[in-house]
Amino acid sequence: MRILILGPQGSGKGTQAKRIAAQRSLPHVATGDNLRAAVADGSELGRRVQPILERGDLVPDDLMIDLIRDRLDREDAFVLDGFPRTLPQAEALDAMLAEIGKPLDAVLLLEVDDEVAVGRLEARAAEEGRTDDSPEVIANRLRLYHQLTEPVVERYRAKGMLLPVDGEGTMDEVAEEIAVALENVGVASR
Ligand code: ADP
Repeated sequence: MRILILGPQGSGKGTQAKRIAAQRSLPHVATGDNLRAAVADGSELGRRVQPILERGDLVPDDLMIDLIRDRLDREDAFVLDGFPRTLPQAEALDAMLAEIGKPLDAVLLLEVDDEVAVGRLEARAAEEGRTDDSPEVIANRLRLYHQLTEPVVERYRAKGMLLPVDGEGTMDEVAEEIAVALENVGVASR
């Protein structure tokens, strides 16, 4: 099963993606986690992307597309989180999955208002101290989401693939809504 999860920063996308992956024994492919691991390792990739992550900007499309192609080539099933974030990334993803005969089964969208998102991100900043959770950087990440990632949402909506879910409930409520949305399109719970 191949599931893509979309949603703004602070929508709980990472948390829900991890839950879906654990419940269904799928690998959780999270580009943000991969990039932060590269930074922590001090690899060449990490050194290149560190300043980009700190500003809350986006890593260049060609670099992201190469990284994700390598990974998805090796996986038959996955929960994809953090990619695609731009239309060129979405086009590349659809093309590469078509080429290897592994189309997406479902595209989830976690919907939350900006105010809710900002509140959650500020709370997380206090708890985890992520360097990209300062108010200015949060604003930049949300701005880029609206400008560059919402067209990706519209692309999957136009294809009839989008499953919107209200992301403003508790973690358990949102997980339940996701399970219902997936069942409705015939993606069984296990
Ligand atoms: P969030 O969704 O909260 O911004 P992520 O953990 O998904 O957090 O991503 C953290 C950072 O990693 C992003 O702000 C961006 O700099 C970089 N990044 C992750 N995925 C991509 C992508 N697909 N394209 C470009 N940059 C990305």
